[in-house]
Amino acid sequence: MREPAASPGPGPAAHATGLTAAEAAARLARDGPNEITRGEGRSPLRVLLSQFNSPLIWLLFAASAISGVLGEVADTIAIGTILVLNAVIGFLQEYRAEKAILALRSITAPRARVVRDGHSAILPAQQVVEGDLLILEAGDVVAADARLVRSHLLTTNEAPLTGESAPVEKGLPPAAGDAALADRTDTVFLGTAIATGSASAVVLNTGMRTELGKIAHLLSSVEDPQTPLQKRLTHLSRLLLVLALGVVAAVAALGLWHGNPPLEVLLSSISLAVAAVPEGLPAMVTIALAIGVQRMARRKALVRRLQAVETLGTTTVICTDKTGTLTTGVMEVRALWGPDPRRLLTVGAGCCDAELDANDRGVGDPTEVAILRAAAAQGIFRGELEAQAPRVEELPFDSTRKRMSIWRADGQLYVKGAVDLLVPLCRGGTQGALEENSRMAARALRVLGVAVGRTPREEDLELLGLIGIADPPRPEAIEAVAAARRAGVQTVMITGDHPTTAAAIAREMGILQPGEPVEERVHARVTAEEKVGIVRRWKERGQVVAMTGDGVNDAPALREAHIGIAMGQTGSEVSREASDLVLGDDNFATIVAAIREGRGIYDNIQKSLLYLLHGNAGELILMFAASVAGLPLPLLPLHILWVNLVTDGLPALALVLDPPAKDLLDRPPRRPDAPFLSRGEWLRILLIGLLEAGVILAAYVEALPHGVAAARSVAFTTLVFAELLRAFAMRSPTKVFFEVGVFSNLLLLGVVGISLALQLALHTFPVTRELFQLGPLDARLFFEAFLLGLIPVSALEVSKLVRRLLRRRP
Ligand code: ATP
Repeated sequence: MREPAASPGPGPAAHATGLTAAEAAARLARDGPNEITRGEGRSPLRVLLSQFNSPLIWLLFAASAISGVLGEVADTIAIGTILVLNAVIGFLQEYRAEKAILALRSITAPRARVVRDGHSAILPAQQVVEGDLLILEAGDVVAADARLVRSHLLTTNEAPLTGESAPVEKGLPPAAGDAALADRTDTVFLGTAIATGSASAVVLNTGMRTELGKIAHLLSSVEDPQTPLQKRLTHLSRLLLVLALGVVAAVAALGLWHGNPPLEVLLSSISLAVAAVPEGLPAMVTIALAIGVQRMARRKALVRRLQAVETLGTTTVICTDKTGTLTTGVMEVRALWGPDPRRLLTVGAGCCDAELDANDRGVGDPTEVAILRAAAAQGIFRGELEAQAPRVEELPFDSTRKRMSIWRADGQLYVKGAVDLLVPLCRGGTQGALEENSRMAARALRVLGVAVGRTPREEDLELLGLIGIADPPRPEAIEAVAAARRAGVQTVMITGDHPTTAAAIAREMGILQPGEPVEERVHARVTAEEKVGIVRRWKERGQVVAMTGDGVNDAPALREAHIGIAMGQTGSEVSREASDLVLGDDNFATIVAAIREGRGIYDNIQKSLLYLLHGNAGELILMFAASVAGLPLPLLPLHILWVNLVTDGLPALALVLDPPAKDLLDRPPRRPDAPFLSRGEWLRILLIGLLEAGVILAAYVEALPHGVAAARSVAFTTLVFAELLRAFAMRSPTKVFFEVGVFSNLLLLGVVGISLALQLALHTFPVTRELFQLGPLDARLFFEAFLLGLIPVSALEVSKLVRRLLRRRP
């Protein structure tokens, strides 16, 4: 054991009470927050400008400018206005989404324990200032560069700084000021982790002035801002662009061949290209992810990496800790076994670090709190013992040893721990204890053996008896296990507890069902080091694995898992930093809720995309068919832009925000390698596109004898109606509108109302009527457009019913 180090500078006494709150506030104001700035988000202006960052939009601008120069100034202004409107809608959505994501980052921000005004307190690491006294223990991430004033068996992992993953020993003697980083043994650094031991340290530097801060620019480019889904969609957009350009080129060639003015042809072609590509999609995805992440946060599931949202939807196995996650972690002693229960409890309580505070609340390890409560009920108090026989040395508990010992001034070693691992250290006559251990474990009790020794070493101990502790399952976790099972997600229990105890609880919770092999569902007496192997084995079997962890040594397993899940309340800082998701309430049920949200988000992105693609297909086919038939184009460039950038955009947004379907957890998980759109979906896009184009073309041709302008007005209005009505069919791939619920997405009803109002406005004002070449407001036109618009949506709904019938038949 290393002695507390005397340190240069102000003496330890001055450090003991830490800074005052006032002094800390002053220093925070002087030095700024303790954070590594990595280009926090984009400025509003950049988000706004990025809305125009698309070759198609530039082309459109150029073409409309040319047509403006050649005299069509009104067109130029109208196109410009639509583009600005589109940019503003896009900006508002994207900027909000980005803000939401940044806000979430601060929820899961690192924390630090510091002494202020003589009391230790847990603060956001950002608020740590120079001169603060940090309290560090295993599992903590150091919040600033700091010099040790006290240390005990301290080793740190400095990989983030030096790339060296072997733990570094820290402590005295103080190294020379110019020593290389790795040799500065009296200093701990921001971002490094405490591997073992404990320490106090006075902060030397914060934020960008730390060693990590100095190399921060090296780290800023590491994170990939695009999730796999976003990448796939970018790819899809490119594919669509190529496809669309083919059609557009054909339409343009036919237009020129029919002798249409080249500029008009150019403008139509570019508009059509804009129509074909779902430009707004990347923004939609960002919004869907951001809103989903907010929804999850409300359910106490805090997402640290955006990618996790997608992966959650594909998760097939949850490997979860038992204690505190599946169970309440509120423990109670239910059974004592041994000849002298008072002595058993005295030694048990004497081997604890936990405390009962003045209000009888437990502070510390729940297992120990339960023992202290049982002892206190017998009039045995740890405080008194601490006064009579102060502790001299402690061999701490860890998940590998599964026991702990305290050597006290009365010349006794107080020991408690897992019975099967304790018995080999005890003198004979232990057969009865092992049998009792099994009996208690079969009652789902967590069993601790209690022993005393006469030397500071854990050997030749006298076993005093056993303590059986109940840790009841969380009722909501039992439901969540069942829900996960229905959703095709297996739950696997991982615990350091005894196999019999673990199996009994697994049975109670429905994790282990009759006939299922225990080894598949329950991993007991697991050490943190073994967790990585467990994750790997599930991965090798092609499963998508979510794994929980809270301890210092859980970080590798959390990183290895597809989704690493840390505990917000009891978890170590290291485990939180290694995780993708943090459970604010440490509750298993929250994992299942997050999986549900993850599936919902993916669903919504798909709905929105399908909505846009169906419409695009319809427009392309319509324009192509008209060109082939040698008809004047049924839609003006302005019409196409209006539909795609305004009236379609709003329903697509409402679909992305659709409440998650009720049956999300009644389906099997999506396969991670499944294509974003299935072949059936592509076929449906084509068929519905053909139908929509056919309906509009028929109405257009019928109206042509009244003049091209009147016929275009019919085509345009019918298209808008068909699109708005179709939005309602896109909410579910299997359920018809009434089954999904008429009022379950009020936003959709609202935006369809707004889009309709905008459409009416176009027909109302002389200026817009002129620009869009529309006739006056005409009830018959609207009614007919409505009826025709019902055709594609009805076809979609009927196809769902037909598919359902076909599937039901054997
Ligand atoms: P998990 O949290 O992964 O579900 P767990 O909390 O049940 O696992 P551990 O805390 O590693 O597992 O406990 C393993 C065993 O160690 C327990 O069965 C118990 O016998 C013993 N044990 C637990 N806590 C203590 C403690 N504070 N002192 C001594 N022994 C303990």
